[in-house]
Amino acid sequence: MASSNILIINVVTNVNVPARFLHTLDGMKQTTIKRSVTIRGTGLHSGQPATLTILPSYSGKGLVFRRMDAGRAEVPAAPRFLQSTNYATRLARNGVRVDTVEHVLAALYACGIDNAVLELDGPEVPSLDGSSEPFVVMLGAAGRIELPAERTRIRILKPVSLLEEDKSIVIYPARGFHVTYSIEFDHPLLKFQKHSIEITSSTFASEIAPARTFGFLRDVEALRKVGLARGGSLENAVVIGDDQILNSELRFDNECVRHKILDLVGDFALLGCHFDGHVVAHKGGHHIHTDFLRKLLATRGAYELLGSEPAVSLPDLVASQAAAAVAPYAPASA
Ligand SMILES: [Zn+2]
Repeated sequence: MASSNILIINVVTNVNVPARFLHTLDGMKQTTIKRSVTIRGTGLHSGQPATLTILPSYSGKGLVFRRMDAGRAEVPAAPRFLQSTNYATRLARNGVRVDTVEHVLAALYACGIDNAVLELDGPEVPSLDGSSEPFVVMLGAAGRIELPAERTRIRILKPVSLLEEDKSIVIYPARGFHVTYSIEFDHPLLKFQKHSIEITSSTFASEIAPARTFGFLRDVEALRKVGLARGGSLENAVVIGDDQILNSELRFDNECVRHKILDLVGDFALLGCHFDGHVVAHKGGHHIHTDFLRKLLATRGAYELLGSEPAVSLPDLVASQAAAAVAPYAPASA
């Protein structure tokens, strides 16, 4: 039960994605959206208001952020532009950055949108309810059209694994994109959770997209001191207190691990390819997700690419290892 002095605004929404938009990600052709859509909210970490407009684009463009408040500077969603992976995924190019990109990228991946321009009027994607559900609904309203070029797929041919302390990720050959995720914390309310799913548009919309980001109450003050979670509240996060969950209800019993799957889909979307493989992750986070992608791409014979050349060339992806040295998260400059 929630404390009485905390305002609960926690609406459990039902996804209402038009049936024509639910597909299996099996399409061979690249896509974009049919019409522009706009959504407004607040950045989870910056606490700043933000408006996001997603516009149609052309084959091979990929997913590209455009900072309208910074001379329309474009920051492509690609590993070479990764700048920080502490708590959220930040992209930056030529000094212009975009924060917390993972939830909208997860929705675009799962909805099968390969090409789009994401116009933002500030440095952070709005967090909305802390999940991908509003983005999935928004993309449903935008519709989808096929483009002439073939979609790029990455098919895993042999297992690749990465271990970092007590965290691990392994990918195995499989048909379709499967994710098995487990998390473990030293907390009485969140000791261990595990979930396994094949990511399709419909499973993502109903089973993963609604899962909200989460955090421990004990960490909130420290996060805010370093410029994080300033826009965080019970409206956009599951907050775990010492002996109770502060939100009035959870959307799933294992909502937290489902959100980790959501984050993984968003981070893997940075490759601009659709995956055929089964990812098994334990205690992961943005940092190991992106380290893993670099290791996968650098492993000879581990995968084959099918369809069009990816929007970002492979040498770029592998070379990104040096460029993406993880920098500490810095709060927004005024
Ligand atoms: Zn997240």
